[in-house]
Amino acid sequence: MSIVIIGTGLGGYNTAKELRKHDAETPLTLITADSGRSYSKPMLSTGFRKEQTPADLVQGEPEAMAEQLDARVITGTRVEAVDREASVVRLEGGETVPYDRLVLAMGADTFTPPVDGDAAGDIFQVNDLDQYERFRSAAADVRRILIMGGGLIGCEFANDLREAGYQVDMVFPEPLPLPRLLPERPAKALHEALTELGATLHTGVTVEAVNRAGGGYAATLSDGRALEADVVLAAIGLKPRTALAEAAGLTVGQGIRVDSTLATSDPAIFALGDCAEVEGCVLPYVAPLTNAARALGQTLAGEVTQVNYPVMPVTVKTSCCQVVAWPPTAGADGEWQFDGDGRDLRGEFRDAEGHLLGFALTGKRIKERMPLTKEMPGLLG
Ligand SMILES: Cc1cc2nc3c(=O)[nH]c(=O)nc-3n(C[C@H](O)[C@H](O)[C@H](O)COP(=O)(O)OP(=O)(O)OC[C@H]3O[C@@H](n4cnc5c(N)ncnc54)[C@H](O)[C@@H]3O)c2cc1C
Repeated sequence: MSIVIIGTGLGGYNTAKELRKHDAETPLTLITADSGRSYSKPMLSTGFRKEQTPADLVQGEPEAMAEQLDARVITGTRVEAVDREASVVRLEGGETVPYDRLVLAMGADTFTPPVDGDAAGDIFQVNDLDQYERFRSAAADVRRILIMGGGLIGCEFANDLREAGYQVDMVFPEPLPLPRLLPERPAKALHEALTELGATLHTGVTVEAVNRAGGGYAATLSDGRALEADVVLAAIGLKPRTALAEAAGLTVGQGIRVDSTLATSDPAIFALGDCAEVEGCVLPYVAPLTNAARALGQTLAGEVTQVNYPVMPVTVKTSCCQVVAWPPTAGADGEWQFDGDGRDLRGEFRDAEGHLLGFALTGKRIKERMPLTKEMPGLLG
């Protein structure tokens, strides 16, 4: 019996740690395309203000992780194919690694920004520690940073970089930040807080082109305006990495489809984290993958265990106006009611019978998350 995990993000390493709580014996191999250092990804968008270097964020080098997990950790190596008939994964360079149980913890891909110009290829994205390291180097001796995207990662970086003293311009097509998480009123509170912090939010527009200009860049916006920047960072969304699974003939929807035991359409192969769609839920956050890793560790150790998904509200680490939200599903029938003023808001989305279907808390009201979370039915388990 041998277990192979593709990916050494929180999904991969947490699964390995959970497995080892129940099973110290089964040979285990982790394979990653990146440097294999263990780190907590949410720390990437608070590192500037905390003056943490990329090295400070490393919780374990791959060699230390290999020792801790009694595993082989193969770094800097892409898995190119899963051969389900032979039960092997094929690595770039030709090596094959056999498995009895395979875990796909492959994360999500960033979208390539749809931008013209001779510097479109210079736009940074930060979805892992290696990319963060390159972004930190580029930002080391400059002042002006342009952020494309007004979602969770764009807002957190705007807050972080502004607190670290950078000039920050945000550009996004929606009228307000966090369009997928927040209704208008709390989104306005966040908009005001970011503006007061000194960031400039260019809403309702997109970046159409980025060209080299002087020592930096000139970005052309869709309304014809030009913005100058020294570094451009895109935070325009993620899509589950499904290509490998699809090529292997596994069932794929928005993510790699798994049941409540994290099993794919092949019972020997499991998936969790940003690449997975668990019983229809794609939740690219830490809490769901932590729950999934706990269940999967037990399953891999021989005791088939279903994942438990309570409602896991999303926390946005914008210190200028913190946010905790669980949005209602798209098209849900109900109404928002708000309590509070300024930055400190409590919003509840209830249906006609009074059932809580979603909520949004900002500022000081985020401490009210527990009773609201408990009032909502769990998602799975
Ligand atoms: C800046 C930032 C801030 C965030 N903040 C929060 C937060 O505050 N709270 C929260 O809940 N969530 C947050 N998230 C989301 C959260 O961090 C992710 O949901 C989580 O870390 C995903 O972990 P993962 O293991 O699924 O994927 P990843 O960490 O992306 O790991 C994927 C792994 O798969 C490997 N891989 C992929 N393809 C291959 C291949 N073909 N061959 C070999 N290896 C491969 C990669 O090299 C990597 O090791 C944040 C995300 C970002 C980017």
